[in-house]
Order: sequence, then structure tokens, then C-alpha cells
Amino acid sequence: MPERMLKFVDVAQRTPPKREATLRRADFDEIFREFDTAGAKQQASRCSQCGVPFCQVHCPLHNNIPDWLKLTAEGRLEEAYEVASATNNFPEICGRICPQDRLCEGNCVIEKGFESVTIGAVEKYITDTAWEQGWVRPPRPRQELAQSVGIIGAGPAGLAAAEQLRRKGYQVAIYDRYDRVGGLMIYGIPNFKLEKTVVERRAKLLAEGGVAFHPNTAVGETVSLATLRQRHDAILVATGVYKAREMQAPGIGLGNIVAALDYLTASNRTGLGDAVPAFQDGSLDAAGKDVVVIGGGDTAMDCVRTAIRQGAKSVKCLYRRDRANMPGSLREVKHAEEEGVEFVWLAAPEAFLGDCTVSGVRAVRMHLGLPDASGRQTPEPIAGSAFTLKADLVIKALGFDPEDLPAMFSEPALGVSRWGTLKIDFRSMMTSLPGVFAAGDIVRGASLVVWAVRDGRDAAEAMHRYIQASIGAAAPQLAAE
Ligand code: FAD
Ligand code: SF4
Ligand code: SF4
Repeated sequence: MPERMLKFVDVAQRTPPKREATLRRADFDEIFREFDTAGAKQQASRCSQCGVPFCQVHCPLHNNIPDWLKLTAEGRLEEAYEVASATNNFPEICGRICPQDRLCEGNCVIEKGFESVTIGAVEKYITDTAWEQGWVRPPRPRQELAQSVGIIGAGPAGLAAAEQLRRKGYQVAIYDRYDRVGGLMIYGIPNFKLEKTVVERRAKLLAEGGVAFHPNTAVGETVSLATLRQRHDAILVATGVYKAREMQAPGIGLGNIVAALDYLTASNRTGLGDAVPAFQDGSLDAAGKDVVVIGGGDTAMDCVRTAIRQGAKSVKCLYRRDRANMPGSLREVKHAEEEGVEFVWLAAPEAFLGDCTVSGVRAVRMHLGLPDASGRQTPEPIAGSAFTLKADLVIKALGFDPEDLPAMFSEPALGVSRWGTLKIDFRSMMTSLPGVFAAGDIVRGASLVVWAVRDGRDAAEAMHRYIQASIGAAAPQLAAE
């Protein structure tokens, strides 16, 4: 056992410095500062170097966490970065926004009574340092191949696949209907969780490595899937899920009841310097308003915390289950409470009140009944418990479903599940269309960045096998010099 490790008995858990809630409320900067070198080393040294590291088992990328913690504790940061980046295309992004309490850190087996190793913060520190030191380099293949792949969607699944395929030498083109690269990492997730420059520098690196980006290109409108299939040797669909779930209730059509992603996109675009008319005219701006957000997932948490930063008069989160049963990260709830958000647990909207625009939400108290087929307790309304919350902006954060991809792509033969997600063969990662693969949220349903990265990497391997099998592995075709 290395001498420098196993310090969890003497060294308490410490996260990097967290900015005061009053300061956080006033801007959209990330809430955590960076570890200093001594702090990162000391926190990494708390790891007990488990023989069977449950942290690694529960990381979707199976990151070699004990090794990079040990290297960090020993001050060997460049090697730590090599290990961290061997399994993860975006360690600094996952270090910032993975729900570590449910993944690696939640499964850290440091003895009871001691807090887990701060794995995410160390991963972020290692990779931010690597960027500062110039250790993060564009993907440069040893040899160029003649074959090309087309990737639809520049979110984390598409970008991870692009990097992996480019490293192997393929000609990679990414098509996205947005004007910027990053998918939900740019237009969904707010700056205070993931600063946009962190995503932008990754996009720049891929472009420097030869990945060709085609922004403002909606597949199914600007160009057809059939055309892309002719243009490339294999295609990856990584289009995410964007159809907002709706609710039925009297008054739902009133003004100032908005969808979460419209609201967050307007805020993110404004932060990026775009002129957003619906923000400028006030309809997607929470400033001075009583805001009610409906939902208990990560998107709802991002909406409440964005509304606080925009200067809302009050922000309430209405959720039909309780704190213990919410899908969002409890760490995010804590941040939101510190910043002044009020959670109204076990309550669901019944009707929206107002003339043209909303002025209030009539809600009813719930209790948790018997578990349903999924094992979760079903919320049931309590008769006679209705109450009203004042609201002049209501944000619906009820989750997302896939768009109708077969119709959008004019490919009725593209197989989908009963939830509308793309069906793939889990060994070949191929859809029902030969040579068309799929990865990320469009396969899993709304999930996490780390899973999108994992899927993108797996799809890249599967596409490589498919192309090599198609051309005959013995004779790889090199691109003309
Ligand atoms: P996306 O990121 O959605 O990217 C899909 C891309 O495809 C987009 O750029 C889109 O423009 C493009 N596209 C779609 N259709 C077409 C078309 N027809 N033609 C061309 N391009 C197209 N995950 C975390 O791990 N941590 C978090 O804290 C977190 N917070 C979140 C907060 C919010 C508000 C939301 C909405 C999600 C959050 N997630 C979080 C989830 C995470 O962002 C997603 O799971 C992840 O981005 C999925 O990656 P993806 O590549 O599959 O899809
Ligand atoms: Fe933990 Fe996410 Fe990093 Fe894996 S990628 S080690 S789950 S923070
Ligand atoms: Fe270290 Fe915790 Fe992982 Fe064990 S589970 S290797 S103590 S980080």
C-alpha cells in the first residue's frame, strides 16, 4: 500500500472553495473555485486504493479512479491526466456535472462515518491543469483513412464518437441543426454548472484535429438522411431528446407558462451574447417575477437557480413527491436552497389561474401511496387540500421525449421503441438501417452526459468494426496524400 494514500482517517473531506450564495445569486459563474495543488493532493490521498474499487464499477466509463487519485497525490499530474483521459473524452466536464452522489462518490467505500473521496473535483482539477499546461492535444491520427463517417448531432455522444473515430484516421463530419457545437451542454445546462468556454475549447480542439463541423444543418430539412448515407461509409444518429412533456390542466394555455428548455435556451443564448427577442421583451425573463417551476429533475433545478440569478421576486419548486424520492441530484437541491429557492414538496398543480397571462397556480397536497410496477411510491392527491401559489411565470420541467425520427428523416424503416427512442442492436449498436448507428439520449431517453460519452465511444468502436468488415480488414484504404 503506498504510504501517501489512505489518509481519510486523518484528513477530512473538503470540496474546492464554494462561493457564498449571495455572490452566486448575482452572476452565472460556476459556483466552485478550483482546488489549489496542495488541496487536490491532500484530498486525493484520502483514497484507500480499494482492491475492488466500487467507485470505478459505478462510473459509467469505468474510469481508473484509484490510479489517477494516487498519481495526483504523488504530484504526477501529467500521468494522472493520461489515465483520466484514456477512458473519458471530457473528464473536466464530467468532473463538473456528473451527479457524483449517485455514481462514483456515492459508491466510494471509505469506512462508515468518513465522507467519500471528492472524485469529481479531483478529476476536474487534473484536466483543467492539463489544459493550462498544454497537455490536452487535438486528435491526430497516425494515418489518414479514406473512409468517412457522418455524425448527426454535436452533443456529448456525437463529439465523443467523433474524437474516437478521428483518432483512428476516419474523415469525420458532424451535422447539427444548432449554430453552436455542444448540444445540451451549450443550450440546456446553465453556465453556473458548466461554463460555456469549457465546452467551446473542446469543439475548437476537435476542429483543429480535422473534424468538419456543419452547423445550421437540420438533417431531414437542410439535407436528407438518404443523402448522408450516400456521402459517408457509416452514420451515427446522436440527436438527443427534445420534445417537452406536456400536462393537461385548466388554464395551461395562459400566457407566461413556458417550457423549461425554451426558458433555459433563452438564458444561455443571452449569456453567450445573442439577442433573444423573447428574453428582451420579458416573456422568458424571470426578473421581478414570482416564479413557480413544476418538476423535480435536474432541468427543474437548473430553472429555479436560473430564475434566482435573473432577479426573480420569489422562486418556488413544486414537486409531487418528496425530497427523498426526487429524480434530481440532492446536491443540486442543496445549492438551490442555499440560493433562496423554496421547495414545495408533495404538491402538484391542479389548475392555472389568470385572465390572459398566469397569475397563480392552484395546487393540491399529495401523499405517497403504494409502489407502482417500477417500485416507486405513487403520489395520490389529498382531498380538500388545495392551496394557491402566486405566480406570474410558470416553468414546466416535466421531462423530454424523442421527436418522431422516422418521420423527421423520412425513413419509415427506422425502428423505434414504444417510447419513440431509436432501437439498436446492443452488440452492433446499429439501428434497423444498415450502416446507421445511434447513441446517447436518442437511444436511452433523457439521461446524463457521462452516459452519452460512454455510448459515443461504444458506437465509434462498433462503426470502426463495421467499416473495416465492409472493406476487408486486411487492406485499409489510406486517404490520398
Ligand atoms: P444532446 O446533448 O441533446 O445533443 C443532440 C444534438 O443533436 C443537439 O446539438 C441537437 O441540435 C442535434 N440535433 C437534433 N436533431 C437534429 C437534426 N435533425 N439534425 C441535426 N442535428 C440535430 N446531464 C448531466 O450529466 N449532468 C447535468 O447536470 C445535466 N443537466 C442537464 C440540464 C438540463 C436542463 C438538461 C435538458 C439536461 C441535462 N443533462 C445533464 C442531460 C444531458 O445534457 C444529456 O443527457 C446529454 O446532453 C445527451 O447527449 P446527446 O449527445 O445524446 O444529446
Ligand atoms: Fe465520477 Fe462521472 Fe468522473 Fe465517472 S465520469 S469518475 S461518474 S465524475
Ligand atoms: Fe478510493 Fe473510494 Fe474508490 Fe475505494 S471506492 S478506490 S476509497 S475512491
